[in-house]
Amino acid sequence: MESFFTLQGEGMYAGTPAFFIRLAGCDVGCVWCDVKESWDASVHPQIEIDQLVAAAIGSGAPMVVITGGEPAMHDLSVLTKKLQEKGLRTHIETSGVYPLTGTWDWITFSPKKFKRPQESIYRAANELKVIVYHHSDLEWALEHAHKTMDSCQWYLQAEWERREEMNTRIISFLRTHPKWKLSVQIHKYIGID
Ligand code: SF4
Repeated sequence: MESFFTLQGEGMYAGTPAFFIRLAGCDVGCVWCDVKESWDASVHPQIEIDQLVAAAIGSGAPMVVITGGEPAMHDLSVLTKKLQEKGLRTHIETSGVYPLTGTWDWITFSPKKFKRPQESIYRAANELKVIVYHHSDLEWALEHAHKTMDSCQWYLQAEWERREEMNTRIISFLRTHPKWKLSVQIHKYIGID
């Protein structure tokens, strides 16, 4: 759908220069999705893998974040292999609803209520990022967290339109759940893509 240089705005790598590759196609159907134009892959052009790799190298960023849409709908083996061969880190942001292909330096798992994740994603995830749209999502986040590995980083991130109310709820929750951390979408606060 698009690719561009920016800063990773969320989670453990927030603030790190990154080349984003947003792959089209998603059937998860989140009501609050802010990239609904990504859902229909057929309206977006196909791009050669080598062209994406060259653009990633040219961006100067040390890592490539593959997002969507739901990027795991695609076979990412060749793309990630070629990126790593060029010395670039491979990161993915996935809802976990499809089996994951490819080789990854960092896997961000962001479960959604609208479609059940694959069981295999819980052990693979380096980072669990739960979007908080309603305060009941905090308890729902715990159900996912206890299935992850000990090394997995846990983040709560308010849905952007509801951030004022939900950030207050999250901060209160962190008092009694100190392994969790707040993630804010810094790219939106500073006004970049
Ligand atoms: Fe949108 Fe991501 Fe949900 Fe798909 S998984 S509907 S791209 S927020």
